[in-house]
Amino acid sequence: MEQVVAPVLVARRKFRTQRFPTPEIGPKDALVKMSGAAICGTDKHVFAQGEIRLGLPGDVVKLPVILGHENVGVIEEIGTDASREMVTEGHPLEIGERVVISADIVCGTCYYCRNYYGFPWCLNHRSYGDVISSKDPPHLFGGMGEKMFVLPGTFMFRVPRRMPDKVAVLTEQMAVAYGAFGRAFQNPNPKEGYSPADTVVVQGVGPLGMCNALMARMLGASKIIAIDKSPFRLKMARSFCHAETIDLSEHPRPEDRVEAVLSMTDRLGADTVIECTGFPHIISEGLDLMRNGGTYLVEGAYSEAGGTKISPSRQILAKNAKIIGVSGMPYQAYGRALKMMESYRHSLGFDKLVTHVFGQEDAQEAMEVSMGLDSMKVVVGRMKG
Ligand SMILES: [Zn+2]
Ligand SMILES: [Zn+2]
Repeated sequence: MEQVVAPVLVARRKFRTQRFPTPEIGPKDALVKMSGAAICGTDKHVFAQGEIRLGLPGDVVKLPVILGHENVGVIEEIGTDASREMVTEGHPLEIGERVVISADIVCGTCYYCRNYYGFPWCLNHRSYGDVISSKDPPHLFGGMGEKMFVLPGTFMFRVPRRMPDKVAVLTEQMAVAYGAFGRAFQNPNPKEGYSPADTVVVQGVGPLGMCNALMARMLGASKIIAIDKSPFRLKMARSFCHAETIDLSEHPRPEDRVEAVLSMTDRLGADTVIECTGFPHIISEGLDLMRNGGTYLVEGAYSEAGGTKISPSRQILAKNAKIIGVSGMPYQAYGRALKMMESYRHSLGFDKLVTHVFGQEDAQEAMEVSMGLDSMKVVVGRMKG
């Protein structure tokens, strides 16, 4: 039987290339031949730290694991029930269709599945590429392998015909940004929450920050200010979403960056600030960058990385701060994100965000490059266009 090659993270900072049997699928399962999986900040934390806790209390990474939850591929096999149950709109899914696979698997019957529209706090939640170990058959639960086994409770989204894989693979992070702005959106009067013409600061313009900056641009922000330590990434932010930029090397102290943002926002601070760094100590600075009555979206701190010191009186109460934690997105956001990227693909820089593609056997190098400062989105897979 044909073997499937997958890089398996067996310990901190250690991949081993393994071969698995091609799984048989049942009526409620599917098998996807992967075009590729994009490396996410979560993958970097798991690679560096191993069995960490993620955004939900029960979600703990289990090694060995095949990473990859930002996934695009082609349906190779699909069960008769799955073809109807895994689709959110249009006709049942078919073999040969190109799809984005949602990262989360939900039960559909627990309290949160039935009552909450937002991040899937499903009481039986699982997610690909981190909390499902490759130890147990059929093993292929991450997108970095050549093929991925798709479990019941997963949704898959058709990729528009002309959209390159390199754009489609951004869907999961664009869906995070879509869900975040969706929750921040509010009637502009009173002026709380995000609304078009806002000034937006993005702390950290790695891939998640870039997706948020692009979302802000599509949603009518009047000014986008990107903060980062990578000149490579700041240049992308300037050219792909017309952001103004603050380089950490020129503004090394938090108070320098606060002053820079004040000088760019009529000394008010930004209407909306978005944390996309994953570093807890950045939260205090983010609250200082935000104007009174502003909105703070906390998106980067997905994996547990400790706490930080803030002044609840000065930074939250006195400011009437609206702080929104964003632990992920409703699965419905995938389809919406795909439509937005299709509409803006040519006017914004979606085609250029994937800067590196590595084969399955080079996952280690892919991870190292993704953690450096001279990359944006790094993919493991076979995609070309
Ligand atoms: Zn991700
Ligand atoms: Zn549930």
